[in-house]
Amino acid sequence: MNIPLKKMEKVKNIVLIAHDNRKKDLLEWVIYNRGTLSRHRLFATGTTGKIIQEKADLPVHRFISGPLGGDQQIGAKIVSGEIDFMVFFWDPLTAQPHDPDVKALLRIAVLYNVPMACNRSSADFVISSSLMDEPYNRVIVDYESRLPNVEQNKI
Ligand code: PGA
Repeated sequence: MNIPLKKMEKVKNIVLIAHDNRKKDLLEWVIYNRGTLSRHRLFATGTTGKIIQEKADLPVHRFISGPLGGDQQIGAKIVSGEIDFMVFFWDPLTAQPHDPDVKALLRIAVLYNVPMACNRSSADFVISSSLMDEPYNRVIVDYESRLPNVEQNKI
């Protein structure tokens, strides 16, 4: 059987996102892990990225702000296989105007088997994994073969 794989290189594309109430927590984590993160390529939604650039002095490719479509831009990058690890400190206590986008992003990350950390301890476990410094073949589940057969269902 041919299992579809997505090769993750030694240098990873890491996306960083935090809702407003969690931005301070994410920044603390980024500063703590600055050395490791500086060996990878960083991406972020607009405001999160600006804070990381300014306060942690790391280069970050910034998308549009999350509520303005940044989450959707990142989702598209996941679909095209350009994101290797997502740290997303979403706010568990506050509803967001772009909650549908947040849900869509979390869903698409699971669909494409992208490692995802939504709190600090998960982020610590992933960032300290030896796989962060090695290539890794990520299995892409073949959901397409599980979709209803269009030919069979023709009216
Ligand atoms: P922001 O977006 O970094 O532009 O604040 C984060 C989000 O709410 O998705």
